[in-house]
Amino acid sequence: MQRICVFCGSYKGTKESYVKAAEAMGKVLVSSGIDVVYGGGDVGLMGILADSVVAAGGKITGVIPEKLLAKEIAHQNLTDLKVVKSMHERKALMAELSDAFIALPGGFGTLEEFCEVVTWSLLGFHRKPCGLLNVDGYYDHLIAFFDNALEYQFLKKEHRDIVLVSNDSHDLLDQLKNYKYTVPEKWITKAEF
Ligand code: AMP
Repeated sequence: MQRICVFCGSYKGTKESYVKAAEAMGKVLVSSGIDVVYGGGDVGLMGILADSVVAAGGKITGVIPEKLLAKEIAHQNLTDLKVVKSMHERKALMAELSDAFIALPGGFGTLEEFCEVVTWSLLGFHRKPCGLLNVDGYYDHLIAFFDNALEYQFLKKEHRDIVLVSNDSHDLLDQLKNYKYTVPEKWITKAEF
């Protein structure tokens, strides 16, 4: 695993533990020899993560749409900053550059980015591992929603299993490394829908 994409909030949230988790994640990735891809911002947990990777001497690539760059909140110390035209282009490039995905606490943006890569995996567009860092129970309700979707058969077991969860960055990284894609190749027949 060479490069991991980290999605995270453009706010810091209220708890010190979110900031600590973003700092720790940056350090753990660098000490594991993994380069980081992220949204390129210098705000919220995104900025904390980037600062942590830079301070630890790691490599970090930001992918940012022109429109956000113009607001002058792109991080200035990245190894590489790729400026793209749109949010769609950004997400496609982040996914293409990365071997796995992690979501730290965040809002709609983080949720959308994470659910998109999980959906792409479910549909067989990639087979890369996807992990949620559940800091201080931040994602408990989302995880309960995924379990609910499984229970009421809007997801199959192999779809639910795409989402790896941990409250510890070392453990989450281990899970990503050991992940085996189990969604069957064959397309679901109409009867199964
Ligand atoms: P959220 O989880 O809603 O805070 O959204 C995180 C996402 O917000 C990022 O991945 C970006 O899509 C977007 N975003 C908001 N502000 C910035 C910024 N200053 N730089 C880069 N991306 C940003």
